[in-house]
Amino acid sequence: MKKISLLGSTGSIGTQTLEVVDENPEELKVVALAAGKSVDKIEIQIRKYKPEMVAMWSEEAADDLRNRVSDIDVKIVSGMDGLIEAATIESADVVLTAVVGMIGIRPTIAAIKAGKDIALANKETLVCAGHIIMDLAKQYNVKILPVDSEHSAIFQSLQGEPADKVSRILLTASGGPFRGRKAEELKGIQVEDALKHPNWAMGRKITIDSSTLVNKGLEVMEAHWLFGVDVDDITVVVHPQSVIHSAVEYVDGAVIAQLGTPDMRLPIEYALFYPDRRTLSGQRLNLFDIGTLTFEKPDTETFKGLSLAIKAAKIGGSMPTAFNAANEKAVSLFLDRRIGYTDIVDYIERVMDNHRVIKDPTVDEILSTEAEAYEYIMGEVK
Ligand code: NDP
Repeated sequence: MKKISLLGSTGSIGTQTLEVVDENPEELKVVALAAGKSVDKIEIQIRKYKPEMVAMWSEEAADDLRNRVSDIDVKIVSGMDGLIEAATIESADVVLTAVVGMIGIRPTIAAIKAGKDIALANKETLVCAGHIIMDLAKQYNVKILPVDSEHSAIFQSLQGEPADKVSRILLTASGGPFRGRKAEELKGIQVEDALKHPNWAMGRKITIDSSTLVNKGLEVMEAHWLFGVDVDDITVVVHPQSVIHSAVEYVDGAVIAQLGTPDMRLPIEYALFYPDRRTLSGQRLNLFDIGTLTFEKPDTETFKGLSLAIKAAKIGGSMPTAFNAANEKAVSLFLDRRIGYTDIVDYIERVMDNHRVIKDPTVDEILSTEAEAYEYIMGEVK
């Protein structure tokens, strides 16, 4: 029986992880859950999965939850200390990190130090602290198992192959809802338009990131850290059908890819059972129905979020954090309708221009870079 601490259990990845648990009740058990403030959803999860511990980010939500579940033997904790307690709970074998944003850095580091394998969905953590996380994982001999569908596809395409024979990674991208538009046509886009992803149903932040191609930029950095491949050897390929989830090209020219229907439960299940595979319910890929697969180069002139991410990745040090933190803040302001759609990438560029790079930043330096980006943007937003 594999025991899971699930951080971000009420979100898109969190709830799909619980569906995977439902499919494998004899083999998977949830021992800890964590969320921000969704008390209604987490109460239902507590009653169904009976975890030992639950962490709520908000103290108020934790208090409310304690009252609601006083009939159940479960420890409710809160804040960053609570999140770290849930991530390091003794009984867990694996921590599935599905919180959104760089809030995941400290719990992920704590979990690695406690010897837990990490099933990683929370890409922002790797973008900002990849140098720390990957070194620690080696030091503590824990696995970092990708949950992001593209990275799972790359991971699956690497199985049984010599790692030193990889020549490049082909990272596929749907292109998002605004593929084909020019810069002028991005002005005036509303929250509702940007939240319509053509192929995947995901949380709000990643859906916006997918529309700006910032998500693909974050994924380039994530792939760089996970697979130790240079940023120059990662090629983004726009593939609107999202059937090929990504591929690896080897030195002999062979390209090995993973294909499937868009269903996040597969990469989640693969990460939880790796290196085994389990039966998974759901639709199967029907190539006859699909008929045609197409590929394009990304339009990095229009979607500057991707080119800025690659620039940040090449600069390295604290620049990816400046990029990511600016994006997190700007996306949240856009979702609150306080800034326009194209302001998101404008703010990222301005924060990057203002940032003085710290080489090999510590966690404190990463967090101060985040604070600096937030302060810069809030100083500009009326
Ligand atoms: P959602 O917004 O759907 O869910 C986020 C989860 O994190 C919720 O459970 C939320 O709780 C919780 N949360 C937010 N803030 C905190 C906090 N401060 N402390 C504790 N918990 C918190 O996001 P997604 O599931 O879409 O994405 C999660 C991560 O996975 C992201 O990093 C994303 O990039 C990555 N990812 C997502 C994919 C997808 O298909 N959705 C695909 C690949 C990667 P609450 O409900 O209380 O707010």
